[in-house]
Amino acid sequence: MARYTGASCRQCRRENLKLFLKGDRCYSDKCSIERRAYAPGQHGQQRFRKMSDYAVQLREKQKVKRIYGMLEGQFRRYFEMADMAKGVTGENLLNLLERRLDNTLYRLGFAGSRSQARQVVKHKHILVNGKKVNIPSYFVSEGDVISVKESSRKHAEIIENLEAVERRGVPSWLELEKDKFQGTVKSMPERQEITMPIQEQLIVELYSK
Ligand code: SF4
Repeated sequence: MARYTGASCRQCRRENLKLFLKGDRCYSDKCSIERRAYAPGQHGQQRFRKMSDYAVQLREKQKVKRIYGMLEGQFRRYFEMADMAKGVTGENLLNLLERRLDNTLYRLGFAGSRSQARQVVKHKHILVNGKKVNIPSYFVSEGDVISVKESSRKHAEIIENLEAVERRGVPSWLELEKDKFQGTVKSMPERQEITMPIQEQLIVELYSK
């Protein structure tokens, strides 16, 4: 999958929000948004003008794309899937994003960020129900068991991330068994378990124009 390869911290400063894109650094005083809480670029420190409704909706979409590390085409396809499914479109969209394997690994604490989780998956360190899966966009389902391959359990980054998992906490739709290097999808993610400040209705309004 193609992805954004620019500076992660710039994206947070653009959205004026910590998007937690860089693992440990995001929790330290090295976090750029803690030190420079204004938009990047030459005019970044100028006061923001009042945004139009369209601009507000666009910014919300950009923010969510950045949180989950998605590009426009794939994000749009997720929206179409969410729109076709039963239920509330915005919540369906967030549900799909949360169920991605890279996000699930990040949530379980096997990776410090979603981008690191993508690398872990692509490098074939991960099994789902005992079978190797190297597709970061794979959707996990209720009952799935996600584990780190036996030969990858000495991987320093994975061990360090698991040690730091308490700091972030594991959402209640997942169960982590740290000692076994595995996690289980207990249920589908609920809207209230997504704690980032996201107004998904704005994205629905944008794409419904
Ligand atoms: Fe965002 Fe993390 Fe960079 Fe802070 S350190 S600006 S939270 S990516």
